[in-house]
Amino acid sequence: MIPIARPIIDEEEIDAVTDVMRSGVIAEGTKVFDFEKAFSGYIGVNHAVAVNSGTSALQIALQAAGIGKGDEVVTSSFSFIATANSILYNGAKPVFADISLDTFNIDPDDILNHITPLTKALLPVHLYGHPAEMKAIMDIAQDKDLIVIEDACQAHGTAYHGKSAGSFGTGTFSFYPTKNMTTGEGGMITTDDKDIDATARMIRSHGSKQRYHHEMLGYNFRMTDISAAIGLVQLGRLDEFNRKRMENARYLSAGLRSLEGIEVPQIRNGCTHVFHQYTIRVTNNCRLERDHLVELLGNKGIGTGIYYPVPIHKQPLYKKSGYIDSLKNTETASMQVISLPVHPSVSTEDLDHIITTMGELIG
Ligand SMILES: *Cc1c(COP(=O)(O)O)cnc(C)c1O
Repeated sequence: MIPIARPIIDEEEIDAVTDVMRSGVIAEGTKVFDFEKAFSGYIGVNHAVAVNSGTSALQIALQAAGIGKGDEVVTSSFSFIATANSILYNGAKPVFADISLDTFNIDPDDILNHITPLTKALLPVHLYGHPAEMKAIMDIAQDKDLIVIEDACQAHGTAYHGKSAGSFGTGTFSFYPTKNMTTGEGGMITTDDKDIDATARMIRSHGSKQRYHHEMLGYNFRMTDISAAIGLVQLGRLDEFNRKRMENARYLSAGLRSLEGIEVPQIRNGCTHVFHQYTIRVTNNCRLERDHLVELLGNKGIGTGIYYPVPIHKQPLYKKSGYIDSLKNTETASMQVISLPVHPSVSTEDLDHIITTMGELIG
């Protein structure tokens, strides 16, 4: 089976972990600090705060921005549930705008349709590694005086006109094993704002700057030095990982572009797509239905993923709270998408097998 995702862990990562284990400092220590420094440098921001997951990064970013009860945050329903749940954790209300079908990212025109006097922030997602339309989003934010928090959990190394995802507003990243780089579990908040940095650090550690002095309600969302040591090695390899993903994507698109009923991923002008996922759309004129194609690919040893089969506003948790939006492109995408293996361990032979099989099944 060609898996849909596989973390790459080599001797260097294993040695880094072993060194930490032998050092005796295994929770938050100097490795976390070094990883934060290296990550902020990579993204091109002044501050980075390491945490225990991407979900925690989102939750903290919203809390540090002062978002709470009575506030609305406009975001995408075509994402992992953590995007919208981070808004609920803070007592605020997620409001869903539709996406564009070419990039699967939030549509700035539809953001405008969803802004009310209660709107406090925009939370775009850089889905699959393609940047959201940041120029239009930052213009709306400036015009309406809104905070911007970026869900860059799939976008390590993504850039919009040369500027890194996670450097426009407050950035949030995940280092879960399927992401473009990993720390096991882990996350990061990126910002140029020293107050957001200071507040995020407090929230991460029970609202304290000084141990056992608690100024606000916080959590234990700290990263360990074990994770940070893995992250430091992985960050050094990220550009190479991303280059391989982009090469694999180009190869797949060259082989799949001409198939009837398949839309290969688009890359908008000025955008760097790091292909966290390589996601095609199976349209109505395809010979097979999406779910049938997924099953037949599985039979041929090709792992696939559907991200995401149920949009957030259609999840029981949200329907229960009265979400009845109709988001046309979001719902279409959830019925049409298939992600194919694109990660750095996918070989040219694997890619040829995917292309040949797709041709046999629907060519
Ligand atoms: C992975 C992911 C998250 C959450 O990250 P965790 O580290 O799993 O908590 C949030 N948003 C998106 C878009 C993701 O892909």
